[in-house]
Amino acid sequence: MKIFKDFDFKAYNTFGLEVRTKYWLEVADEVDLPRAIETADELSGGQFMFLGGGSNVLFCGNYPGALIHLSFGGIQHSVLDHGQILVEAGAGVSWHELVRYTVERGWWGLENLALIPGSVGAAPIQNIGAYGVEQGDVFESLRGVPLNGPPSEYMKDQCAFAYRNSVFKQQMKGKMVITRVRYRLHTEPHPQLAYKELKAFFDPTGQHDGRGLKPDQIADKVAEIRRAKLPDPAVLGNAGSFFKNPVLHGDDADTFRSNFPNAPLFEVRGGSKLEGLCGVVNRAMRVERSSKRICRRIAGACLGIGALRRRSWTRSLDPCPGHHALGSR
Ligand SMILES: Cc1cc2nc3c(=O)[nH]c(=O)nc-3n(C[C@H](O)[C@H](O)[C@H](O)COP(=O)(O)OP(=O)(O)OC[C@H]3O[C@@H](n4cnc5c(N)ncnc54)[C@H](O)[C@@H]3O)c2cc1C
Repeated sequence: MKIFKDFDFKAYNTFGLEVRTKYWLEVADEVDLPRAIETADELSGGQFMFLGGGSNVLFCGNYPGALIHLSFGGIQHSVLDHGQILVEAGAGVSWHELVRYTVERGWWGLENLALIPGSVGAAPIQNIGAYGVEQGDVFESLRGVPLNGPPSEYMKDQCAFAYRNSVFKQQMKGKMVITRVRYRLHTEPHPQLAYKELKAFFDPTGQHDGRGLKPDQIADKVAEIRRAKLPDPAVLGNAGSFFKNPVLHGDDADTFRSNFPNAPLFEVRGGSKLEGLCGVVNRAMRVERSSKRICRRIAGACLGIGALRRRSWTRSLDPCPGHHALGSR
């Protein structure tokens, strides 16, 4: 484990913001994790958090505590019966690297999730998803280290995966660090082409089931579509394909609809989803340089959308400890 003081972590947040943290703890070996947590706790007086690829956190200024960055990796796999493969990756592996590892071997399951930024360790937290697939669809289990306790295993039925949600974003939030994640993949074709851009490319006539395809063809197409839609965060910091959109309930939705009849409000299970916040954030990124100004602009724009009560807003943009960071989605 390495400890740095007054550390500039611009290279570790995909917004590319000029931000520093009082302490930065680099954990390259899983066995050092309990000691790292203890040290971070002591140094920061309890104000510490974990950081993976920094692609789902917006820092609104310097971080006054300690950031623990997990860089341990490793991908292993074992072949099971009935054409199934169990793949395990360390928290510090880049998500896309894991996807490439699997599709290059012809295994099905993660191909639609190509090019999502971030680390394997963070993927289960918000149950990352794209192009009609979520990581929870092929998730097997994970290993985590609670802040006060021995490492434990979490099976899929304990994770409460839902739309960009999981138990790790709810009851377990901030209470555990994910160290390894396992996925159960298939050697037999399982193409998921329901998403309209994939369907239009691979099955324009609706007469193929896609079983002649290889998973890397789908991963490559997904990556191509993503690159066409979004700037590479390594070149231009941006908020990604979407924020978790606020869902308005009951009277809130009715009031909003009558005040803003043209707003993009779509029915979802349990409410009405307001789309378009991602555009607000990306516009703010284009015109502002300081992280404080970006945060002010985002907050102003979202409140300016109108009729959104504070509870709707805070549910979609989740403040991290100390309110020095905004976790998105
Ligand atoms: C350009 C762009 C496109 C995107 N597209 C998508 C998309 O299509 N679909 C989608 O679902 N998401 C998308 N995202 C969001 C992002 O890729 C995911 O949320 C990703 O899982 C974040 O990973 P990370 O390692 O960067 O997490 P970070 O931003 O480093 O951390 C996010 C949160 O997880 C916590 N955390 C990180 N690692 C661990 C760990 N090992 N254990 C416990 N807690 C941890 C952190 O404390 C923080 O609260 C996109 C983001 C960008 C910038």
